Amino acid sequence: MAASLRLLGAASGLRYWSRRLRPAAGSFAAVCSRSVASKTPVGFIGLGNMGNPMAKNLMKHGYPLIIYDVFPDACKEFQDAGEQVVSSPADVAEKADRIITMLPTSINAIEAYSGANGILKKVKKGSLLIDSSTIDPAVSKELAKEVEKMGAVLMDAPVSGGVGAARSGNLTFMVGGVEDEFAAAQELLGCMGSNVVYCGAVGTGQAAKICNNMLLAISMIGTAETMNLGIRLGLDPKLLAKILNMSSGRCWSSDTYNPVPGVMDGVPSGNNYQGGFGTTLMAKDLGLAQDSATSTKTPILLGSLAHQIYRMMCAKGYSKKDFSSVFQFLREEETF
Ligand code: NAD
Repeated sequence: MAASLRLLGAASGLRYWSRRLRPAAGSFAAVCSRSVASKTPVGFIGLGNMGNPMAKNLMKHGYPLIIYDVFPDACKEFQDAGEQVVSSPADVAEKADRIITMLPTSINAIEAYSGANGILKKVKKGSLLIDSSTIDPAVSKELAKEVEKMGAVLMDAPVSGGVGAARSGNLTFMVGGVEDEFAAAQELLGCMGSNVVYCGAVGTGQAAKICNNMLLAISMIGTAETMNLGIRLGLDPKLLAKILNMSSGRCWSSDTYNPVPGVMDGVPSGNNYQGGFGTTLMAKDLGLAQDSATSTKTPILLGSLAHQIYRMMCAKGYSKKDFSSVFQFLREEETF
């Protein structure tokens, strides 16, 4: 995968960086005064399933944090660890000139940046704001314009990899924004991810992320349907998963995040679909894909169907479960 991304980067002019290709420390020095002051505090807003382990990886790399989340309990363990917790995004911006946001939706991001106590109220000139939430690319572009008016820079850097990769620091970041600021963003993102890919102008990181998640949703539904059919045909689920994973049906949903309880350890299907990537968030990402397909007149037949399936799951009580619970959903629907 890393090799193919490097090839893609070479072919398209996109820049790609991985830990194995990390530039020598000295080459970061040329970036700007903000990034050479490496261990100055970093703001972190949104300490949920993903933000929590991401922020902890910044701490492990020695960055002091300025923390805010609308849900005060989410900040508690950071406060206990000695990090500074403040009471609004504006207060984060007052104390840090590099800020990472990791929020659920476009509306939450707009609130955190442009709201009454948003980042823009107190952002310092020259600040670097990195939004790792998965949101509408059009919103990223709008926010970047507002940020630019304040003399600061916003980059979109949504992630792929899930909670496990967030914990192990192996996320993939898809970065859009001013290319000159990419190295400064890498310095922080490289503490939380093993792949940091420059995609182009602001909003292109979101575009890459939306495309990835549409494929993920389709492949997760396909894996769940396949496993369910195999079980119905009398196959042992672990054996079926093993065969798929050595055959052409193999995918991330079958070999790393299998949706059938008992097939794998350490994934949400083994924990009543708790934690992980919520069905609501997947439905949201598919809605973004649907909007983008409509605006670009692109046919996404399976993507649209996946969107309907995840919306239906939300309506039927699966909204707080991990998106792999589509397997359970199919089991419960199977009497028709
Ligand atoms: P989450 O709901 O677990 O966490 C979001 C956090 O943001 C919560 O603690 C919430 O209280 C906080 N929040 C909401 N609005 C806020 C505001 N205005 N100001 C401050 N804090 C606010 O979500 P998550 O699973 O961590 O996902 C975050 C983003 O990452 C989403 O856009 C999601 O699509 C994306 N993502 C998630 C995963 C995953 O596996 N969970 C994987 C890749 C990408």
